[in-house]
Parts: sequence; C-alpha cells; structure tokens
Amino acid sequence: MNIEITRENVEQLVDQAMSNSEIKVFYQPKYDAVNGSIVSAEALARWVTADGEVIPPFRFIPLMEELGSITALDWYIMKEVCVFLKNELKNSRRVVPISVNFSRVHTKEQGFAAMLCDAVDAFGIPHELLEVEVTESAMATDEKNVIAFAHSIREAGFAISIDDFGSGLSSLNFVKDVPANVIKIDKSLLSSNCESEKERIVLESIFGFAHRLKMITVAEGVETREQLGFLRTCGCEMIQGYLFAKPMPEEQFRELLSDEPEMKVAEQEDILTTQAPTTATEMLLDVIFDRYPLIIMSNLSRNSFYMMAYDHFHNRSCPSTGIYTELIRHGASTMHPEDRQLFTDAFDVGAQLSAYEQGQRTRAVVTRQLGDDGIYRRVETTNYYVKNPSADDVLAITLSRAID
Ligand code: C2E
Ligand code: MG
Ligand code: MG
Repeated sequence: MNIEITRENVEQLVDQAMSNSEIKVFYQPKYDAVNGSIVSAEALARWVTADGEVIPPFRFIPLMEELGSITALDWYIMKEVCVFLKNELKNSRRVVPISVNFSRVHTKEQGFAAMLCDAVDAFGIPHELLEVEVTESAMATDEKNVIAFAHSIREAGFAISIDDFGSGLSSLNFVKDVPANVIKIDKSLLSSNCESEKERIVLESIFGFAHRLKMITVAEGVETREQLGFLRTCGCEMIQGYLFAKPMPEEQFRELLSDEPEMKVAEQEDILTTQAPTTATEMLLDVIFDRYPLIIMSNLSRNSFYMMAYDHFHNRSCPSTGIYTELIRHGASTMHPEDRQLFTDAFDVGAQLSAYEQGQRTRAVVTRQLGDDGIYRRVETTNYYVKNPSADDVLAITLSRAID
C-alpha cells in the first residue's frame, strides 16, 4: 500500500480495512517446551491489503494506541478468533486456547470482563479457550486498577498473561500482586544463544520467581536450539518463536494443528537439557551423600545447626537440629576417649570464628568414632566456612565420612 499511515489517517484507514475484511488474524503457535507439541497460540493482527501486501502491526498499532482508537481493533480480533474457534468446534476439529492482545486502554475500560463474557458467550466458546494478554508496561501504569481488572478477568474464567515481561520497569513486588496466571518473558532478555552468564542468572531468577508464584511461563522470540536448551533447564513451560513457527494465516494454522498427533512423545534427548536446576541439584546431592553420608549446616554466629544425614551413616544418635555447642559435646561423647579433646578443640565455636577471621576457609580432623554396631571407625570431619550473602553470619558446612 503506497499510502503513508499517519496519526491523521490511521483511524479511518484501519476502520475501512476492518469493514473490507483486510484485517486478518495470524496465529503463532506456542509449544510445550519438553515434548514439542502445540499447546496454545497467540492471535496477531495483520493488515493484508487488496494487492496482497501484509502490513505488520508496528505500522499502525502504536499510533492507534496513542489515539485510543485501538480498542475497536482489539475487539475485532477477539471476535475473529471466536468465529474461528466456533467453526473449528462445530466441525469437531482440534482446538487449543488462543491468546488475544488487549491494549493498555482496556485496563481503564469500565466493565471490560462483562463485555468480554458477552462477546465470547455470543459464540458459545468455553472461556478456558481464551486468554487475555496485557503488556507489563500497561499493567504497571495504574497498579490498583490493574489488579481489579485482572481479578475480574480471572473470575470470569479467562486466563490472563503479562506480556513482554522484562521489557518494562515494573517491580517484581507489583507482579506478585497481579492475579495473572501466565507470564511471557520478553525476547529482549534472550541473547542469541543465552551464552552470557549474567543473562542466564537474570533468566533463572525470573523463572524461579514465576514458578514460586505458580505462574505458567512462556518464552517469546525463541530462535535458536541453544536458547531452547537453556530455557528447558529453567523449567520454562512454553516456547513461542521462529525456531518452531512464525505467525501464520488461519488455514495454515488449522492444517498444522490437525496434522499434529494428539500427544507427542517426548523427544529422546540429552536428559541434562530437559532437567530443571532443582532436579539437577537433587542429583548432585545424591552424589555428595554417597561420599559423605553426614552433612551438617551450622550457623556459628548463632550457635545453631541443621543436619542432613543419609540412611547409611553408621552413627544415628545425633539430634537433627538444635544448638551447635551441644552437637559438638554430643559428637565428642561418641569419639574414642583419646580423640575427644582433639575433636572438641577443633570444633570450638570461638576458635573456628577467629580462624575464619584470619582467613581459614576449611578445617579437617580425623577421629575414631563408635558406630551403632559397637565398632570404632576412623572418621574424617571437614568444615567448610561460608558467608551467608544476606547476613553477616559465618556458616559452616560439615562433610563427614568414615575412612576405614
Ligand atoms: P507481542 O504481543 O509481544 O507479540 C509477539 C511479537 O513477536 C509478534 O510480532 C511476533 O511476530 C514476534 N515474534 C514471535 N516470535 C519471534 C521470534 O522468534 N523472533 C522475533 N524477532 N520476533 C518474534 P508482531 O506480530 O509484529 O506484533 C508486534 C506487537 O504488536 C505484538 O507484540 C503486540 O504487542 C502488538 N499486536 C499485535 N496484534 C495486536 C492486536 O490485535 N492488538 C493489540 N493491542 N496489539 C497487537
Ligand atoms: Mg502478545
Ligand atoms: Mg510479547
């Protein structure tokens, strides 16, 4: 289209385009991050002119947002999605939930949820097949209002997602209060291969935070297998991006959905790329326990401890949590009489704290300890001193194992 789209003419041109059915919905599938099957899709507006030119949203949507006339377009797209879903359901074809973008202007629209219900119910579409996407920056503008807005959408049975998360400046504290159930991580947070450690730290924290808030995570703009591999290790649930599929016209999306087997079997792949860090940490712990059946976490500054003991440690009489100095007294009582002083001196709290101040980071002793079976074994006890990043306390991690 040769006409330049401007603030002055955009409203009239898009209005006309809607009347002429030149505004089309393109669908971009979202894939299950582990088994690669399509689980949802996003509806994206495209202006397809009479001569076949496809005008992308950035040429008219930002202008319409500024002017406030975007709402009509959003409702138009929503209705087109309902028409599509109704037709698919009528023909007993497979459907997946579709998310629709709603501009920031709607967050101030009176009775938005009721209007959404009316629009969707007119087509008899189950509410769980529709999701409302609102950008993070739109949500961060009027916090109180947005929380009520999101609540009303959830109460009406629709899902709501925070779009482009990480591109704006909203605080995590605010996000925790928004009752959104999906968070879409913005593509600007993914560099080409997620190779920078700092970037990975940021992403891991966002996923950890979202999962603890019980939100479903979607990564947007995924273009490489390396990004996919890393996102899987973060426990990301859904992937949307050119790596799998670009936004496509309705007919193509229908074909893609119906050609896909209902349940894909998870690809046989390197398990490490699909394991979330928590599972990896559990595996690591198993290996450490295998070598050190007794691990004690102690806070020397606060004289407390917490014990992790593996099933086959040979002395089980220790308490599992309590006062550190009592633990050492108890430990000494299980040692061979000739080794008790050595053990007590080595793990004296004051001695350890001053050694830490002088730069000591580990301390190990070997003593003979009486097992539950009445046999003395030589036991190596090693303390590793660490600082808790959020406090001044000096912590000790004790690894203990029998050496004969
Ligand atoms: P969005 O909602 O964040 O949509 C995702 C955008 O990322 C889409 O751009 C999509 O084509 C693009 N994308 C997806 N995967 C990749 C990838 O792997 N690499 C790259 N580089 N890009 C990818 P699109 O379709 O141009 O839409 C741009 C924005 O326009 C959307 O961002 C959304 O904010 C807005 N928009 C689109 N349709 C509507 C609508 O109906 N209403 C409203 N209010 N906004 C809309
Ligand atoms: Mg979106
Ligand atoms: Mg987005």
